[in-house]
Amino acid sequence: ESLHESHRIQALDPRLINQIAAGEIIERPASMLKELVENALDAGATSIDIEVDNAGVKRLKITDNGHGILRQDLAMALSRHATSKIHDLDDLEQIATLGFRGEALPSIASVTRMSIQSREQDADQAWLVSSDGNNITTDPQPIAHPVGTTIETRDLFYNTPARRKFLRTDTTEFKHLDQVVRRMALSRFDVAFKLSHNGRVVMHLPAVPADDPRRLKMVCGDNVPENSVYFDEQREDMRLSGWAGLPSFSRSQADMQYFFLNGRLIRDKTVVHAIRLGYQDVLFHGRHPVYVLYLEMDPARVDVNVHPTKHEVRFRESGQVHSFVFRTLQAVMSRSAGEVGSLQVDAET
Ligand code: ADP
Ligand code: MG
Repeated sequence: ESLHESHRIQALDPRLINQIAAGEIIERPASMLKELVENALDAGATSIDIEVDNAGVKRLKITDNGHGILRQDLAMALSRHATSKIHDLDDLEQIATLGFRGEALPSIASVTRMSIQSREQDADQAWLVSSDGNNITTDPQPIAHPVGTTIETRDLFYNTPARRKFLRTDTTEFKHLDQVVRRMALSRFDVAFKLSHNGRVVMHLPAVPADDPRRLKMVCGDNVPENSVYFDEQREDMRLSGWAGLPSFSRSQADMQYFFLNGRLIRDKTVVHAIRLGYQDVLFHGRHPVYVLYLEMDPARVDVNVHPTKHEVRFRESGQVHSFVFRTLQAVMSRSAGEVGSLQVDAET
């Protein structure tokens, strides 16, 4: 009898399901922050304020001025596979939002103590719900909050000690958080970002127009715009724009390379290869270009639903993307070579 009991099949407890999903997308405070910032951007926020204590492990709070969540949807936001962003297969085929899987909030809730305060844009009141490892502790309570949303998490992995062990020092975890804010800030110049750590403001980026080099300077360093070529190329329904670092400004490591596809930072083999080819004639072997590039194309021509973290994508016609990126960068580089003169090596290494 008990022998049989041990191999009976049972449905997993919903809370455990969320903790398993959290294992895929919530690795550390930075991955939590990425999901929460994406939600704020999807809500149309123009200002995002982030406060963290102990690199976000102890406390992470993010406030946005987006459209907010209705009182009657607050509990739903915490349940798995619940999303306002897609409704049917057609929507899935042409995703224009950063999120769509409805997994982030329930995953985060399952490994933290979380509270959501939100006031929907047409509501006359803000509401608060709290949860403790996915168990919603109260009905929505009225609270004072402007239009938008504040999500606060405390004690990341407090209930999953095995996961907590993989967290690094606050210094390391904070570096990852800082990277997330920088990436997000590069993806949306028109959104203001503020980051505070242990009560001190460490980054404050006002909103600027889309191609304004001030944002680039603040995020990547003063010398990046002047050592890069800004370009904006359109071919049929694809547009590639941004800053391509001059060969003379190359680095020994590939640590200042950002490629955004429809506003989403991606790391794609096709794209990386195309860029490398584009630089091939002007860059010494072993050197890595600096770039911040934006590719825009019809979302129906790319599948972003490849992996839960959505860093990988699948282009429907990857050959076309490859040749557009390669040819554009090659042209930009050969144009700039004419202007700048011969190849030189920088003093960085
Ligand atoms: P997804 O982003 O994939 O839809 P999430 O779990 O990240 O799933 O969020 C669930 C839902 O909660 C979203 O679809 C959205 O409706 C709502 N939501 C989450 N964060 C915010 C926010 N900051 N502002 C407005 N709505 C939000
Ligand atoms: Mg989301």
